[in-house]
Amino acid sequence: MTTTDPAQTTKYVFDFSEGDKDQKDLLGGKGANLAEMVRLGLPVPPGFTISTGACRAYLEAGTVPAGLDDQVAAHLATLEETRGKKLGDPDDPLLVSVRSGAKFSMPGMMETVLNIGLNDASVHGLAAQSDNPRFAWDSYRRLIQMFGKTVQHIDGERFEHALEELKERKGVHGDLDLDAADLEELVGAFREIVREHTGSDFPQDPREQLAAAIDAVFSSWNSDRAVLYRRQERIPNELGTAVNVVAMVFGNTGPDSGTGVCFTRDPATGAQGVYGDYLQNAQGEDVVAGIRNTVPLAQLEEIDKVSYDELLRIMALLEGHYRDLCDIEFTIERGTLWMLQTRVGKRTAAAAFRIATQLVDEGLIDADEAVRRVSGAQLVQLMFPRFDTSPGSAGEKAQVLGRGMSASPGAAVGKAVFDSYTAVKWSRSGEKVILVRRETNPDDLNGMIAAEGILTSRGGKTSHAAVVARGMGKTCVCGAEELNVDTKRRRLTAPDGTVIDEGDVISVDGSSGLVYAGEVPVMAPPVVEYFEGALDADAAEADDLVRAVDRVMARADEVRRLRVRANADTVADAERARRFGGEGIGLCRTEHMFLGERRQHVERLILAEDDEARAQALDALLPLQRWDFLQILTAMDGLPTTIRLLDPPLHEFLPNITELSVRVALAESRGEANENDLRLMQAVHSLHEQNPMLGLRGVRLGLVVPGLFDLQVRAIAEATAQLIKMGRDPQPEIMIPLVGSVQELEIIRADSLKVLAEVAEQTGVDFPALIGTMIELPRAAMTAGQIAEAAEFFSFGTNDLTQTTWGFSRDDVEAAFFSTYLEMGIFGVSPFETLDVEGVGELVKIGTERGRATRPDLKVGVCGEHGGDPDSVHFFHKVGLDYVSCSPFRIPVARLEAGRVALVDQLAEGGAGADSR
Ligand code: ADP
Ligand code: MG
Ligand code: MG
Repeated sequence: MTTTDPAQTTKYVFDFSEGDKDQKDLLGGKGANLAEMVRLGLPVPPGFTISTGACRAYLEAGTVPAGLDDQVAAHLATLEETRGKKLGDPDDPLLVSVRSGAKFSMPGMMETVLNIGLNDASVHGLAAQSDNPRFAWDSYRRLIQMFGKTVQHIDGERFEHALEELKERKGVHGDLDLDAADLEELVGAFREIVREHTGSDFPQDPREQLAAAIDAVFSSWNSDRAVLYRRQERIPNELGTAVNVVAMVFGNTGPDSGTGVCFTRDPATGAQGVYGDYLQNAQGEDVVAGIRNTVPLAQLEEIDKVSYDELLRIMALLEGHYRDLCDIEFTIERGTLWMLQTRVGKRTAAAAFRIATQLVDEGLIDADEAVRRVSGAQLVQLMFPRFDTSPGSAGEKAQVLGRGMSASPGAAVGKAVFDSYTAVKWSRSGEKVILVRRETNPDDLNGMIAAEGILTSRGGKTSHAAVVARGMGKTCVCGAEELNVDTKRRRLTAPDGTVIDEGDVISVDGSSGLVYAGEVPVMAPPVVEYFEGALDADAAEADDLVRAVDRVMARADEVRRLRVRANADTVADAERARRFGGEGIGLCRTEHMFLGERRQHVERLILAEDDEARAQALDALLPLQRWDFLQILTAMDGLPTTIRLLDPPLHEFLPNITELSVRVALAESRGEANENDLRLMQAVHSLHEQNPMLGLRGVRLGLVVPGLFDLQVRAIAEATAQLIKMGRDPQPEIMIPLVGSVQELEIIRADSLKVLAEVAEQTGVDFPALIGTMIELPRAAMTAGQIAEAAEFFSFGTNDLTQTTWGFSRDDVEAAFFSTYLEMGIFGVSPFETLDVEGVGELVKIGTERGRATRPDLKVGVCGEHGGDPDSVHFFHKVGLDYVSCSPFRIPVARLEAGRVALVDQLAEGGAGADSR
């Protein structure tokens, strides 16, 4: 310990009049916004904010930093002067609230304690002063309750029980039916609970109450829930929380007082109007706690017209000032309005788009800001199929069984089954099923794959069911605790007693978390119809949401630098990709082109013992492949189409070993062994791999199976030449998968160039065809400088690159332990959903830099699923890729996010007060 502690001179405490909304780092969100309201001259009860720096110092030293107590005392003295009351004055006490408030609002932080400063003496002073003993005792019992629960960590139910017991004894229902004497009695009971739990009396010294509450806020920064949340959300542990100390204003003094919350627009739809709830004679969280029925805000006009008009004026002012929807807390004390909190409010996806464009029309923000204000995640919400329960629809009367967490969006209908075995069995026979479990575990994987949707009664958003379902893109509602799932008796019981037996149809809405009995009709949302081209944004029947999406997308397209392509293997997907705004195909897989009837040719190819047999098999495949490419290149006329040569291990094209063994055994028992089957069996055995993912696949296949890649290249070349002759504009790009060294690529490249030259010669058509490679092995990224010598483009296959970088086999790990990893906070989101920027992303960066160092005009893209993930798109923009490629349905999301990141980038460069959320 040094004697000249620098902390002595650090300013830790700021009056509300000293800050503004941009000081969230120092004052936390709540404090910065309270200061802003003071700056605007709004009626905010006086108070001060203890900075996040004080919290950091406290957490570091384990004790309150030097100087803090003095600064708090000084600000308290000013507060006492302003209010003309003293903390702890037995005759006329000043009361305050202590409220946590970090930069980001966060679960696990200490809940607010109101009425600090009351004790056995001052409660009488307050009663006399206000001429309202009921109010005084009500405030005191609330203090003990909140302080006991949040500062002293006493189980809140103890207090709830005591309150219930009293009401029962008095034969009353509502808290308003308790009079002063009742509440005084309750205070006695509460104090007894405190004594029992802590071994000492409820602290009577108001300064001790205040100091303990401040300490508790600081400590709550490191509560388990807060730590876990920060680990998952990657919020730095160093930020710390601020503490706000605010003079109390009272909504619980009688019917001319009350408390409320309001929004400047409807957070559900974005519509303009008066939205909020008000509760007379109430304090703090009463209004949202559901203890009594609130009234809609509009009714405040009848209750207290003056306050109502004033509130509406302030709402308009705040919205104009923040240029956004604001969420507001207020209290009315005997006809005087007080503002207790404001912040930019949360909203639904539809509201976000509508509000952003409304604000443009009102001249509050420009078109660029509108794009920044919405997100790809919100656009996704608008694109999921949903149940049609609108008035007049067949689904209007759908019976809701219950609600759980929206774990993985979508709308699924099927027969309820209660174990995975049944799910698989029924789905094999063509039934649609919903897998209903209390919770799932790795053994349920096959059942989850077979099901249309998954419903569990336990577990949160990182439970096994939720994680695996999201990974599969499958609809899931989890943690529907009100539904009683009995897997033994194969039934589900809703709270209203409705029983769903195995085989009964249910409908599961993964976006809202609602579960319905029976089949609810599904509809394509209007936003999808718009992207499909079936609904014109300017048409009369298009609603304002579609128009808003159209405007935002148009602006995003204007400003984005990243191109967006699709991963599409079929003509149908290619056409949809074009409709959705795709600018080419970034990944056309060819494996499905070797399945079905063509499998026999592949078998012949694998079994070929000499060049002639091999040539025959390839000759049979050539026209089929050419036809495939003719179709795809026609669908993508004028746009680049990246065709990936065959990638999966060969055994995937051979019959299943068990089936084959049975066939051979049966044939042998009949004494009629089939020569071909025997050879097939041998081939399957010799191709068997311990780790197919790391085995003979990709470029390795092209090198080991003579003629295979040549066949594909020839088919591409011939199709291209033919289309050019027809006056079309095919733009094929030939992509070699799983390259790890430039030597591999050099060999394939030389062969391919030879084939291309031959076809050019034969057809007399000279056509361009880029040859490039996927970068999906760490070694490829590290040696990208060499590989670029033989590649005209790179495409990062981030699915495999994630697998090979982490050493994860996705199919195995997601079901086996990802939920545990998420719960432990090892990652906040699966690296298969959002690119692991620090690891895999670094390889993308290195690969791009080294590749372009060798070949400055190297085209670089990405074709993993990450190409349609918002955060990942931002990263790819920053690394300077040319395009992302994603599933057709994700194209709008990628377009939007590519526009957003370009705009956020501009702001950052311009250095303007960037407000990028
Ligand atoms: P949260 O962050 O959970 O909303 P708040 O600090 O806003 O917590 O407070 C909880 C409740 O107490 C809110 O309804 C708020 O308006 C109310 N409240 C906070 N401080 C005061 C005060 N000084 N006077 C009256 N009510 C208050
Ligand atoms: Mg709250
Ligand atoms: Mg609040």
